[in-house]
Amino acid sequence: MHVKQKLRGRYRMCGCCTDGSLVCFTSAMLEGVGVTTSRPANFQPDGSSMYSPGSLFQLLRDGRPRTRAELAAETGLARSTVTQRVDALLASNLIGPADKAASTGGRPPTRFAFNPNARYVLAADIGATHARLALTDLAAEVLAQSADDLLVAAGPEVVLDWVDRVGHELIREAGRDPDDLLGVGIGLPGPVEHSTGRPVSPPIMPGWDGFDVQGFLQDRFGAVSLVDNDVNIMALGEHHVVWSDAPHMMFVKVATGIGSGLISDGRLHRGAQGAAGDMGHLQLPHGTDVVCRCGNTGCLEAVASGAAIAAKLAARGTAASSSFDVVGLARGGNIEALQLLRQAGRDIGEVLAAAVSLFNPSVIVIGGSLSQAGEHLIAGVREIVYRRSLPLATQDLRIVQSSTGDRAGIIGAAVMVIDHALAPVQVDLLMSAAPAAMS
Ligand SMILES: [Zn+2]
Repeated sequence: MHVKQKLRGRYRMCGCCTDGSLVCFTSAMLEGVGVTTSRPANFQPDGSSMYSPGSLFQLLRDGRPRTRAELAAETGLARSTVTQRVDALLASNLIGPADKAASTGGRPPTRFAFNPNARYVLAADIGATHARLALTDLAAEVLAQSADDLLVAAGPEVVLDWVDRVGHELIREAGRDPDDLLGVGIGLPGPVEHSTGRPVSPPIMPGWDGFDVQGFLQDRFGAVSLVDNDVNIMALGEHHVVWSDAPHMMFVKVATGIGSGLISDGRLHRGAQGAAGDMGHLQLPHGTDVVCRCGNTGCLEAVASGAAIAAKLAARGTAASSSFDVVGLARGGNIEALQLLRQAGRDIGEVLAAAVSLFNPSVIVIGGSLSQAGEHLIAGVREIVYRRSLPLATQDLRIVQSSTGDRAGIIGAAVMVIDHALAPVQVDLLMSAAPAAMS
């Protein structure tokens, strides 16, 4: 895996892919931290050592301060080893001293806690007609943000130039050191191959097919960049803010189109090509002859999306051309809009009932613009899912409205970068890359 990254301002020639400007992940893995190709027994599946600073750091990411003695007790590591690791993490600024712990006598021991301000992240959420960009800390808290009306159909150069320009403005205005940028995360409104950071035949994004979004952003910002589709980052954002205790969650975006993001065992499930969760083009069990934009008939999206409901209202003589019009009509008490939303909820419920049987989530979150129309959509979803799914799968299943609303994407894009860049092996890379520069 040749994910290019800048290690605290130092550049090295990659020994395995001859990329001369930035050290790549594989090269750094093998050389930077002294990892050999034959792993010692104490190495975990992700390449980090269970005794490494990066692994110890994972315990502190929950924000709870701990003393050296508590860390030793929790990990079973020798006190001297914990002290060594804590010193390395202190030098990196990723942790800092917190309050003093209570002591039975003498000087109280120092507690240490995760320092979310050690670095920062740029998070972008690109929609069909709107773009948001935020600077967040390492806990995905938004520190500064900017938004603009921007057509994704204007093409990758226009949109990504905006991310480049506004991103650097946010960094400058916040007074942050460009070298402290941990990474850039971006969500796009179309299918994305996450491993390469390239859109794949996105229907509403002319000019983006196969474009190297990841490489473009890495070159402009000199930091690791990760790309995903908008629904996946919304799922990550909602999960991070509201449902971090629920390891199995499904996020359904109902807007102009319909899609879902799956959180399985606390992690985003992308599938083999990053196409998991694309439920908008599943065929409704009861069948319909409505033609979908994908060319098939009877797709859920062709029947229950905001665009589909707006078209049905327009056909009945009500002025509506978008999901925002549908939301406005529903909020105004338009009976037809409310009935169509309820039916759309039932149609979505038909597909979700199958997903519940296959995936067994404990939470289904309904988000996207249409979820803002009130309870009618969700009531329709609940009606069918609870009736159609087996009792064991629904006894503790909650179906709720999104709490993060239009912030979900930004937060999720930040979480995507943070989870990648603060994983044990990545933290170990940071520790070993340039210890002198991190004081
Ligand atoms: Zn379709």
